[in-house]
Amino acid sequence: MRAFTYERATSAQGAAAAAAAHPGAKFIAGGTNLLDLMKLQIETPTHLIDVNHLGLDRIEPTEEGGLRIGAHVRNTDLAADKRVRKDYAVLSRALLSGASGQLRNKATTAGNLLQRTRCPYFYDTAKPCNKRQPGSGCSAIGGFSRNHAILGVSDACIATQPSDMAVAMRVLDATVETIDPDGASRTIAIADFHTLPGDTPHIETVLGANELITAVTLPAPVGGKHVYRKVRDRASYAFANVSVAAVIGDGFQRFAFGGLAHKPWRVEAAEKADGAAAVADIVLDGARTTPLNAFKSVLTRRTLNAVLREEHA
Ligand code: SF4
Repeated sequence: MRAFTYERATSAQGAAAAAAAHPGAKFIAGGTNLLDLMKLQIETPTHLIDVNHLGLDRIEPTEEGGLRIGAHVRNTDLAADKRVRKDYAVLSRALLSGASGQLRNKATTAGNLLQRTRCPYFYDTAKPCNKRQPGSGCSAIGGFSRNHAILGVSDACIATQPSDMAVAMRVLDATVETIDPDGASRTIAIADFHTLPGDTPHIETVLGANELITAVTLPAPVGGKHVYRKVRDRASYAFANVSVAAVIGDGFQRFAFGGLAHKPWRVEAAEKADGAAAVADIVLDGARTTPLNAFKSVLTRRTLNAVLREEHA
């Protein structure tokens, strides 16, 4: 691990301003992903800004009837919140399907959205990786790509976004709130928050360099049955091969998918289709697979089918 300096921020704007004052700085809250990356020298921040003490650890109702989740609410607390369990059950289920109990106790809402891919080549500093070192090449294309993306991929990167929580946030139409060093805040629809790899896979979100996430807001509940079905290589603790977040109510259905792309994948046009096969045909349109991950197309169809069967059970 490289040497770095540390400070504890006391306000959200102060944290963003500290980042602007220290080129190469990073925010740290739970640190469940960042510290691993620092030990491997994949992330080498010059300065860490501890944002754990900003009072962003509350879940509050909004005037619109939704919930405002502070950026540093721990994943365990969010999953267990009675309002989340009752009105946004897909979110609670997605959170509980991710990581381990110990990690969920530390991991935060904002950090979960910002966690980096688990592509093994990204973590292997002996191998080319455009995400880790732009322009160096992609070892996964033509390499071991079993758990890589099939939608929205580029010739530069086929990595997936690993968050389960983000997939549920996408199906719930969440918005992300941020603050910059000047104190200006903005809201970003979760649909626009994560980016596709294109020619710049090292850029994963639309956040500015010194912009700090302060909250994630859920709109008023839409009701319906909530399902989060995750298929993975081992039941105890693994990232998704494919996951489906579904909210199905009277006259509407919504689906978002994990494990398929560089961002939670949702195709609203597919939600008007009737039956799993018709929905999957639209969702998977344009899929680009490798011999090792072609199974994900079939698995997506089967998982969606299982979700719809569960809904009608
Ligand atoms: Fe790197 Fe992306 Fe290729 Fe993985 S898929 S090796 S993260 S460029």
